[in-house]
Amino acid sequence: NADIPQPVLDVIARLRELGHAVYLVGGCVRDMVRKVHPKDFDVATSALPEEVQRAFRKVIPTGIQHGTVTVVQGGTHVEVTTFRSEGDYLDGRRPSSVAFERDIVKDLSRRDFTINAMAYNPLDRDLADPFGGQTDLQAQLIRCVGSALERFSEDGLRPMRAVRFAAVLGFALDPDTRDAIPATLAVFRKVALERVREELTKLLLSPRAEGGLLLLAETGLLDVFLPEVARATPEAARLARAAVQAAPTDIEIRVAVLLADLVDRAQARDIGLRLKFPNKVADLVALLVETAKLEERFSDADPALRRLLARVGLPQLPQLLAVARARVQVRAPERLSDLERLCARLEALAAAKPPLVPKDLALTGGDIMATLAVGPSPIVGEATRFLMDSVLDEPALNTAEGLKQRLQAWQSARTGA
Ligand code: ATP
Ligand code: MG
Repeated sequence: NADIPQPVLDVIARLRELGHAVYLVGGCVRDMVRKVHPKDFDVATSALPEEVQRAFRKVIPTGIQHGTVTVVQGGTHVEVTTFRSEGDYLDGRRPSSVAFERDIVKDLSRRDFTINAMAYNPLDRDLADPFGGQTDLQAQLIRCVGSALERFSEDGLRPMRAVRFAAVLGFALDPDTRDAIPATLAVFRKVALERVREELTKLLLSPRAEGGLLLLAETGLLDVFLPEVARATPEAARLARAAVQAAPTDIEIRVAVLLADLVDRAQARDIGLRLKFPNKVADLVALLVETAKLEERFSDADPALRRLLARVGLPQLPQLLAVARARVQVRAPERLSDLERLCARLEALAAAKPPLVPKDLALTGGDIMATLAVGPSPIVGEATRFLMDSVLDEPALNTAEGLKQRLQAWQSARTGA
Protein backbone atom coordinates (compact mmCIF):
# COMPACT_ATOMS: atom_id res chain seq x y z
CA ASN A 1 0.00 0.00 0.00
CA ALA A 2 3.02 2.26 0.37
CA ASP A 3 2.72 3.04 -3.35
CA ILE A 4 -0.82 4.40 -3.15
CA PRO A 5 -1.07 8.21 -2.88
CA GLN A 6 -2.90 9.49 0.21
CA PRO A 7 -5.64 11.32 -1.77
CA VAL A 8 -6.51 8.04 -3.51
CA LEU A 9 -6.73 6.26 -0.16
CA ASP A 10 -8.90 9.10 1.19
CA VAL A 11 -11.34 8.77 -1.72
CA ILE A 12 -11.57 5.02 -1.19
CA ALA A 13 -12.09 5.42 2.57
CA ARG A 14 -14.85 8.00 2.09
CA LEU A 15 -16.82 5.84 -0.35
CA ARG A 16 -16.49 2.84 1.93
CA GLU A 17 -17.66 4.89 4.91
CA LEU A 18 -20.85 5.57 2.93
CA GLY A 19 -21.34 1.82 2.51
CA HIS A 20 -20.25 1.44 -1.12
CA ALA A 21 -18.02 -1.26 -2.53
CA VAL A 22 -14.80 0.35 -3.81
CA TYR A 23 -11.62 -0.93 -5.44
CA LEU A 24 -8.56 0.11 -7.37
CA VAL A 25 -8.81 -1.42 -10.87
CA GLY A 26 -6.97 -1.90 -14.15
CA GLY A 27 -3.36 -1.07 -14.87
CA CYS A 28 -2.46 0.05 -11.33
CA VAL A 29 -3.44 -3.31 -9.81
CA ARG A 30 -1.47 -5.14 -12.51
CA ASP A 31 1.55 -2.97 -11.76
CA MET A 32 1.29 -3.37 -7.98
CA VAL A 33 1.09 -7.16 -8.32
CA ARG A 34 4.19 -6.99 -10.57
CA LYS A 35 5.85 -4.75 -7.97
CA VAL A 36 6.19 -1.89 -10.44
CA HIS A 37 5.22 1.64 -9.48
CA PRO A 38 1.85 2.43 -11.16
CA LYS A 39 1.62 5.59 -13.22
CA ASP A 40 -2.00 6.33 -12.37
CA PHE A 41 -4.62 4.96 -10.02
CA ASP A 42 -8.17 4.26 -11.19
CA VAL A 43 -10.93 3.77 -8.64
CA ALA A 44 -14.10 1.74 -9.33
CA THR A 45 -17.13 1.73 -7.06
CA SER A 46 -20.68 0.46 -6.74
CA ALA A 47 -21.76 4.05 -5.96
CA LEU A 48 -23.70 5.69 -8.80
CA PRO A 49 -22.11 8.78 -10.38
CA GLU A 50 -24.57 11.09 -8.56
CA GLU A 51 -23.66 9.41 -5.27
CA VAL A 52 -19.98 9.96 -5.96
CA GLN A 53 -20.66 13.61 -6.81
CA ARG A 54 -22.51 14.08 -3.52
CA ALA A 55 -19.78 12.38 -1.49
CA PHE A 56 -17.06 14.95 -2.31
CA ARG A 57 -16.77 18.71 -2.27
CA LYS A 58 -15.07 19.12 -5.61
CA VAL A 59 -15.97 16.84 -8.51
CA ILE A 60 -15.61 17.24 -12.27
CA PRO A 61 -18.13 15.26 -14.35
CA THR A 62 -15.46 14.03 -16.78
CA GLY A 63 -17.37 11.27 -18.53
CA ILE A 64 -20.51 11.05 -16.51
CA GLN A 65 -22.53 9.18 -19.20
CA HIS A 66 -19.98 6.36 -18.89
CA GLY A 67 -19.99 6.64 -15.11
CA THR A 68 -16.66 8.41 -14.71
CA VAL A 69 -16.16 11.46 -12.52
CA THR A 70 -12.94 13.11 -11.39
CA VAL A 71 -12.69 13.82 -7.68
CA VAL A 72 -10.38 16.70 -6.81
CA GLN A 73 -8.87 15.60 -3.53
CA GLY A 74 -5.79 16.92 -1.75
CA GLY A 75 -4.72 18.84 -4.86
CA THR A 76 -4.77 15.78 -7.13
CA HIS A 77 -7.32 14.33 -9.52
CA VAL A 78 -8.72 10.89 -8.80
CA GLU A 79 -10.84 9.18 -11.48
CA VAL A 80 -13.77 7.28 -10.02
CA THR A 81 -15.90 5.05 -12.27
CA THR A 82 -19.08 3.23 -11.36
CA PHE A 83 -18.99 -0.56 -11.87
CA ARG A 84 -20.14 -1.14 -15.41
CA SER A 85 -21.15 -3.82 -17.81
CA GLU A 86 -21.46 -3.29 -21.53
CA GLY A 87 -24.28 -4.13 -23.92
CA ASP A 88 -23.65 -5.77 -27.27
CA TYR A 89 -21.05 -4.31 -29.57
CA LEU A 90 -22.76 -3.66 -32.87
CA ASP A 91 -20.00 -2.00 -34.85
CA GLY A 92 -16.75 -3.47 -33.52
CA ARG A 93 -15.91 -0.17 -31.93
CA ARG A 94 -18.16 0.67 -29.02
CA PRO A 95 -20.88 -0.99 -26.98
CA SER A 96 -24.49 -0.18 -27.84
CA SER A 97 -25.15 0.58 -24.17
CA VAL A 98 -23.54 0.55 -20.75
CA ALA A 99 -25.26 -0.46 -17.51
CA PHE A 100 -24.19 0.33 -13.98
CA GLU A 101 -23.61 -2.69 -11.77
CA ARG A 102 -23.39 -3.42 -8.03
CA ASP A 103 -20.88 -6.23 -8.38
CA ILE A 104 -17.15 -5.84 -9.06
CA VAL A 105 -16.94 -9.17 -10.94
CA LYS A 106 -19.38 -7.87 -13.57
CA ASP A 107 -17.10 -4.88 -14.05
CA LEU A 108 -13.96 -7.01 -14.28
CA SER A 109 -15.53 -9.36 -16.82
CA ARG A 110 -15.88 -6.58 -19.43
CA ARG A 111 -12.14 -5.82 -19.28
CA ASP A 112 -9.74 -6.93 -21.98
CA PHE A 113 -7.06 -9.17 -20.48
CA THR A 114 -6.81 -11.24 -17.31
CA ILE A 115 -3.87 -9.19 -16.05
CA ASN A 116 -5.97 -6.02 -16.48
CA ALA A 117 -9.04 -7.57 -14.83
CA MET A 118 -7.99 -7.57 -11.19
CA ALA A 119 -9.27 -5.26 -8.44
CA TYR A 120 -7.71 -4.39 -5.10
CA ASN A 121 -9.14 -2.84 -1.99
CA PRO A 122 -6.24 -1.45 0.00
CA LEU A 123 -8.28 -0.98 3.21
CA ASP A 124 -9.09 -4.71 3.49
CA ARG A 125 -6.04 -5.72 1.46
CA ASP A 126 -8.49 -7.68 -0.64
CA LEU A 127 -7.46 -8.70 -4.18
CA ALA A 128 -10.28 -9.74 -6.51
CA ASP A 129 -8.85 -11.88 -9.29
CA PRO A 130 -11.68 -13.92 -10.80
CA PHE A 131 -9.93 -14.65 -14.12
CA GLY A 132 -6.49 -15.76 -13.01
CA GLY A 133 -4.62 -12.53 -13.63
CA GLN A 134 -1.93 -13.33 -11.06
CA THR A 135 -1.23 -16.71 -12.65
CA ASP A 136 -0.91 -15.10 -16.07
CA LEU A 137 1.36 -12.38 -14.70
CA GLN A 138 3.56 -15.15 -13.28
CA ALA A 139 3.50 -17.04 -16.58
CA GLN A 140 4.01 -13.76 -18.49
CA LEU A 141 0.97 -14.30 -20.68
CA ILE A 142 -1.54 -11.94 -22.29
CA ARG A 143 -4.86 -13.79 -22.25
CA CYS A 144 -8.33 -12.46 -23.01
CA VAL A 145 -11.01 -12.50 -20.34
CA GLY A 146 -13.34 -15.20 -21.70
CA SER A 147 -13.42 -16.15 -25.37
CA ALA A 148 -10.74 -14.34 -27.35
CA LEU A 149 -12.76 -14.65 -30.55
CA GLU A 150 -15.76 -13.01 -28.90
CA ARG A 151 -13.76 -10.30 -27.17
CA PHE A 152 -11.88 -9.38 -30.37
CA SER A 153 -15.12 -9.39 -32.35
CA GLU A 154 -16.69 -6.94 -29.87
CA ASP A 155 -13.89 -4.40 -29.97
CA GLY A 156 -11.43 -4.47 -32.85
CA LEU A 157 -8.80 -2.48 -30.95
CA ARG A 158 -8.19 -5.28 -28.44
CA PRO A 159 -5.86 -7.37 -30.66
CA MET A 160 -3.65 -4.33 -31.08
CA ARG A 161 -3.70 -3.79 -27.30
CA ALA A 162 -2.77 -7.44 -26.79
CA VAL A 163 0.35 -7.05 -28.92
CA ARG A 164 1.12 -3.68 -27.32
CA PHE A 165 0.99 -5.16 -23.79
CA ALA A 166 3.13 -8.10 -24.96
CA ALA A 167 5.78 -5.63 -26.15
CA VAL A 168 5.57 -3.32 -23.16
CA LEU A 169 5.66 -6.12 -20.58
CA GLY A 170 7.86 -8.54 -22.52
CA PHE A 171 5.07 -11.17 -22.34
CA ALA A 172 3.85 -13.75 -24.86
CA LEU A 173 0.31 -14.10 -26.18
CA ASP A 174 -1.65 -17.08 -24.91
CA PRO A 175 -2.20 -19.38 -27.97
CA ASP A 176 -6.00 -18.92 -28.08
CA THR A 177 -5.62 -15.17 -27.83
CA ARG A 178 -2.99 -15.16 -30.55
CA ASP A 179 -4.97 -17.41 -32.91
CA ALA A 180 -8.03 -15.19 -32.56
CA ILE A 181 -6.23 -12.22 -34.12
CA PRO A 182 -6.06 -13.38 -37.76
CA ALA A 183 -9.62 -14.63 -37.42
CA THR A 184 -10.99 -11.20 -36.44
CA LEU A 185 -9.03 -8.85 -38.73
CA ALA A 186 -12.26 -7.73 -40.40
CA VAL A 187 -13.27 -6.13 -37.08
CA PHE A 188 -9.81 -4.63 -36.56
CA ARG A 189 -10.12 -2.94 -39.98
CA LYS A 190 -13.04 -0.85 -38.69
CA VAL A 191 -11.10 0.71 -35.84
CA ALA A 192 -10.20 4.40 -36.14
CA LEU A 193 -6.53 4.68 -37.12
CA GLU A 194 -6.02 7.27 -34.43
CA ARG A 195 -6.64 4.63 -31.75
CA VAL A 196 -4.39 2.18 -33.57
CA ARG A 197 -1.68 4.82 -33.65
CA GLU A 198 -1.90 5.37 -29.88
CA GLU A 199 -1.23 1.69 -29.29
CA LEU A 200 1.46 1.60 -31.99
CA THR A 201 3.23 4.50 -30.32
CA LYS A 202 3.33 2.70 -26.96
CA LEU A 203 4.60 -0.43 -28.72
CA LEU A 204 7.32 1.44 -30.62
CA LEU A 205 8.52 3.15 -27.44
CA SER A 206 8.53 -0.09 -25.43
CA PRO A 207 11.62 -2.09 -24.48
CA ARG A 208 10.57 -4.89 -26.87
CA ALA A 209 9.62 -2.88 -29.93
CA GLU A 210 11.35 -5.37 -32.22
CA GLY A 211 9.39 -8.34 -30.89
CA GLY A 212 6.20 -6.30 -30.90
CA LEU A 213 6.65 -5.38 -34.57
CA LEU A 214 7.31 -9.03 -35.44
CA LEU A 215 4.13 -10.06 -33.63
CA LEU A 216 2.17 -7.36 -35.49
CA ALA A 217 3.48 -8.79 -38.77
CA GLU A 218 2.87 -12.44 -37.86
CA THR A 219 -0.70 -11.87 -36.72
CA GLY A 220 -1.67 -9.86 -39.83
CA LEU A 221 -2.36 -6.63 -37.93
CA LEU A 222 0.51 -4.75 -39.55
CA ASP A 223 -0.81 -5.34 -43.06
CA VAL A 224 -4.00 -3.49 -42.12
CA PHE A 225 -2.41 -0.17 -41.14
CA LEU A 226 1.17 -0.35 -42.46
CA PRO A 227 1.10 -2.47 -45.63
CA GLU A 228 4.27 -0.72 -46.84
CA VAL A 229 6.17 -2.38 -44.00
CA ALA A 230 4.18 -5.62 -43.93
CA ARG A 231 4.92 -6.25 -47.63
CA ALA A 232 8.66 -5.61 -47.48
CA THR A 233 10.90 -8.63 -48.10
CA PRO A 234 11.47 -10.68 -44.93
CA GLU A 235 15.09 -9.53 -44.77
CA ALA A 236 14.27 -5.84 -45.26
CA ALA A 237 11.56 -6.09 -42.60
CA ARG A 238 13.92 -7.84 -40.18
CA LEU A 239 16.55 -5.10 -40.59
CA ALA A 240 13.96 -2.38 -40.11
CA ARG A 241 12.72 -3.98 -36.86
CA ALA A 242 16.25 -4.44 -35.53
CA ALA A 243 17.08 -0.82 -36.35
CA VAL A 244 14.00 0.38 -34.44
CA GLN A 245 15.18 -1.62 -31.43
CA ALA A 246 18.63 -0.01 -31.72
CA ALA A 247 17.23 3.56 -31.85
CA PRO A 248 16.59 5.89 -28.90
CA THR A 249 13.01 5.86 -27.59
CA ASP A 250 11.70 8.91 -29.39
CA ILE A 251 8.63 8.45 -31.56
CA GLU A 252 9.81 10.49 -34.55
CA ILE A 253 13.17 8.75 -34.58
CA ARG A 254 11.66 5.28 -34.27
CA VAL A 255 9.01 5.79 -36.95
CA ALA A 256 11.64 7.23 -39.30
CA VAL A 257 14.00 4.34 -38.63
CA LEU A 258 11.21 1.86 -39.34
CA LEU A 259 10.39 3.50 -42.68
CA ALA A 260 13.72 4.89 -43.89
CA ASP A 261 14.77 1.93 -46.03
CA LEU A 262 11.30 0.87 -47.13
CA VAL A 263 9.59 4.04 -48.42
CA ASP A 264 10.46 7.46 -49.79
CA ARG A 265 9.84 10.86 -48.30
CA ALA A 266 6.37 11.37 -49.79
CA GLN A 267 5.18 7.91 -48.75
CA ALA A 268 6.53 8.47 -45.25
CA ARG A 269 4.52 11.67 -44.94
CA ASP A 270 1.38 9.95 -46.24
CA ILE A 271 1.83 7.16 -43.71
CA GLY A 272 2.27 9.66 -40.88
CA LEU A 273 -0.89 11.51 -41.85
CA ARG A 274 -2.85 8.31 -42.45
CA LEU A 275 -2.02 7.18 -38.92
CA LYS A 276 -3.23 10.58 -37.69
CA PHE A 277 0.09 11.68 -36.29
CA PRO A 278 0.12 15.48 -35.87
CA ASN A 279 1.22 17.23 -39.11
CA LYS A 280 4.43 18.36 -37.43
CA VAL A 281 5.34 14.77 -36.63
CA ALA A 282 4.50 13.53 -40.14
CA ASP A 283 6.61 16.30 -41.68
CA LEU A 284 9.57 15.60 -39.43
CA VAL A 285 9.39 11.85 -40.06
CA ALA A 286 9.33 12.54 -43.81
CA LEU A 287 12.35 14.81 -43.52
CA LEU A 288 14.26 12.24 -41.48
CA VAL A 289 13.39 9.51 -44.00
CA GLU A 290 14.59 11.73 -46.84
CA THR A 291 17.93 12.48 -45.21
CA ALA A 292 18.51 9.24 -43.25
CA LYS A 293 21.12 7.68 -45.51
CA LEU A 294 24.12 9.54 -44.16
CA GLU A 295 26.41 6.69 -45.30
CA GLU A 296 25.94 8.08 -48.82
CA ARG A 297 27.57 11.33 -47.70
CA PHE A 298 30.86 10.16 -46.26
CA SER A 299 32.82 11.93 -49.01
CA ASP A 300 30.70 15.10 -49.13
CA ALA A 301 32.59 18.38 -48.74
CA ASP A 302 31.58 21.07 -46.25
CA PRO A 303 29.32 23.07 -48.59
CA ALA A 304 27.22 19.98 -49.32
CA LEU A 305 27.03 19.16 -45.60
CA ARG A 306 25.96 22.73 -44.84
CA ARG A 307 23.19 22.32 -47.42
CA LEU A 308 22.16 19.15 -45.59
CA LEU A 309 22.07 21.11 -42.30
CA ALA A 310 19.98 23.79 -44.00
CA ARG A 311 17.56 21.13 -45.25
CA VAL A 312 17.24 19.38 -41.89
CA GLY A 313 17.40 22.42 -39.61
CA LEU A 314 19.79 22.55 -36.67
CA PRO A 315 17.22 21.60 -33.99
CA GLN A 316 16.54 18.31 -35.81
CA LEU A 317 20.20 17.37 -36.28
CA PRO A 318 20.40 15.12 -33.17
CA GLN A 319 17.38 13.17 -34.40
CA LEU A 320 18.91 12.74 -37.86
CA LEU A 321 22.16 11.45 -36.37
CA ALA A 322 20.21 9.02 -34.17
CA VAL A 323 18.29 7.68 -37.18
CA ALA A 324 21.50 7.22 -39.16
CA ARG A 325 23.32 5.52 -36.28
CA ALA A 326 20.52 3.01 -35.64
CA ARG A 327 20.31 2.06 -39.31
CA VAL A 328 24.06 1.72 -39.83
CA GLN A 329 24.44 -0.22 -36.58
CA VAL A 330 22.27 -3.04 -37.91
CA ARG A 331 22.90 -2.76 -41.65
CA ALA A 332 26.62 -2.03 -41.85
CA PRO A 333 28.31 -2.04 -38.44
CA GLU A 334 31.72 -1.95 -40.14
CA ARG A 335 30.87 1.57 -41.30
CA LEU A 336 30.04 2.91 -37.85
CA SER A 337 33.39 4.63 -37.35
CA ASP A 338 33.06 6.38 -40.72
CA LEU A 339 29.58 7.43 -39.69
CA GLU A 340 30.82 8.78 -36.37
CA ARG A 341 33.41 10.84 -38.22
CA LEU A 342 30.67 12.32 -40.41
CA CYS A 343 28.46 13.00 -37.37
CA ALA A 344 31.35 14.86 -35.73
CA ARG A 345 31.88 16.96 -38.86
CA LEU A 346 28.17 17.81 -39.03
CA GLU A 347 28.15 18.75 -35.36
CA ALA A 348 31.25 20.92 -35.79
CA LEU A 349 29.71 22.69 -38.82
CA ALA A 350 26.51 23.23 -36.83
CA ALA A 351 28.41 24.55 -33.81
CA ALA A 352 29.97 27.23 -36.03
CA LYS A 353 26.41 28.59 -36.49
CA PRO A 354 26.73 29.15 -40.24
CA PRO A 355 24.03 31.12 -42.10
CA LEU A 356 21.51 28.48 -43.25
CA VAL A 357 18.29 30.38 -43.95
CA PRO A 358 17.60 33.81 -45.51
CA LYS A 359 17.05 35.47 -42.15
CA ASP A 360 20.64 34.56 -41.21
CA LEU A 361 21.96 36.71 -44.10
CA ALA A 362 23.83 39.89 -43.21
CA LEU A 363 21.49 41.74 -45.62
CA THR A 364 17.75 42.13 -45.05
CA GLY A 365 15.22 42.06 -47.88
CA GLY A 366 15.17 45.89 -47.63
CA ASP A 367 18.97 46.03 -47.95
CA ILE A 368 18.80 43.80 -51.02
CA MET A 369 16.17 46.00 -52.69
CA ALA A 370 18.20 49.13 -51.91
CA THR A 371 21.41 47.61 -53.29
CA LEU A 372 19.67 46.52 -56.49
CA ALA A 373 17.61 49.74 -56.63
CA VAL A 374 14.37 47.79 -57.12
CA GLY A 375 11.05 47.55 -55.29
CA PRO A 376 9.39 44.34 -54.18
CA SER A 377 9.60 41.97 -57.14
CA PRO A 378 10.52 38.38 -58.02
CA ILE A 379 14.11 39.53 -58.48
CA VAL A 380 14.44 39.93 -54.71
CA GLY A 381 13.70 36.24 -54.23
CA GLU A 382 16.19 35.26 -56.88
CA ALA A 383 18.83 37.49 -55.35
CA THR A 384 18.18 36.04 -51.92
CA ARG A 385 18.59 32.50 -53.27
CA PHE A 386 21.81 33.53 -54.94
CA LEU A 387 23.18 35.01 -51.72
CA MET A 388 22.10 31.97 -49.68
CA ASP A 389 23.87 29.74 -52.15
CA SER A 390 27.02 31.86 -51.90
CA VAL A 391 27.17 31.79 -48.10
CA LEU A 392 26.43 28.07 -47.93
CA ASP A 393 29.56 27.61 -50.05
CA GLU A 394 31.50 30.14 -48.03
CA PRO A 395 30.01 31.34 -44.71
CA ALA A 396 32.79 33.95 -44.29
CA LEU A 397 31.14 35.96 -47.10
CA ASN A 398 28.22 36.73 -44.80
CA THR A 399 29.00 40.39 -44.02
CA ALA A 400 27.00 43.35 -45.26
CA GLU A 401 29.93 44.56 -47.33
CA GLY A 402 30.80 41.13 -48.75
CA LEU A 403 27.19 40.42 -49.74
CA LYS A 404 26.68 43.86 -51.35
CA GLN A 405 29.69 43.28 -53.56
CA ARG A 406 28.46 39.80 -54.56
CA LEU A 407 25.04 41.23 -55.27
CA GLN A 408 26.38 44.02 -57.49
CA ALA A 409 28.51 41.53 -59.43
CA TRP A 410 25.47 39.30 -59.80
CA GLN A 411 23.34 42.19 -61.05
CA SER A 412 25.85 43.36 -63.64
CA ALA A 413 26.35 39.79 -64.88
CA ARG A 414 22.57 39.54 -65.30
CA THR A 415 22.05 42.89 -67.03
CA GLY A 416 25.16 42.37 -69.14
CA ALA A 417 23.76 39.01 -70.36
P1 ATP B 1 -1.34 1.72 -19.28
O1 ATP B 1 -0.30 1.50 -18.26
O2 ATP B 1 -0.83 1.61 -20.66
O3 ATP B 1 -2.19 2.92 -19.07
P2 ATP B 1 -3.72 0.34 -18.54
O4 ATP B 1 -3.97 -1.07 -18.17
O5 ATP B 1 -3.98 1.39 -17.51
O6 ATP B 1 -2.25 0.42 -19.09
P3 ATP B 1 -5.59 1.74 -20.18
O7 ATP B 1 -5.67 1.81 -21.66
O8 ATP B 1 -5.29 2.98 -19.41
O9 ATP B 1 -4.55 0.60 -19.84
O10 ATP B 1 -6.97 1.13 -19.70
C1 ATP B 1 -7.30 0.98 -18.30
C2 ATP B 1 -8.06 -0.31 -18.07
O11 ATP B 1 -9.30 -0.30 -18.78
C3 ATP B 1 -7.34 -1.56 -18.59
O12 ATP B 1 -6.45 -2.07 -17.61
C4 ATP B 1 -8.49 -2.50 -18.86
O13 ATP B 1 -8.94 -3.11 -17.68
C5 ATP B 1 -9.59 -1.57 -19.34
N1 ATP B 1 -9.63 -1.41 -20.81
C6 ATP B 1 -9.04 -0.43 -21.54
N2 ATP B 1 -9.30 -0.55 -22.85
C7 ATP B 1 -10.09 -1.63 -22.98
C8 ATP B 1 -10.72 -2.28 -24.09
N3 ATP B 1 -10.56 -1.84 -25.34
N4 ATP B 1 -11.48 -3.36 -23.83
C9 ATP B 1 -11.66 -3.82 -22.57
N5 ATP B 1 -11.09 -3.26 -21.49
C10 ATP B 1 -10.32 -2.18 -21.67
MG1 MG C 1 -3.89 3.57 -17.82
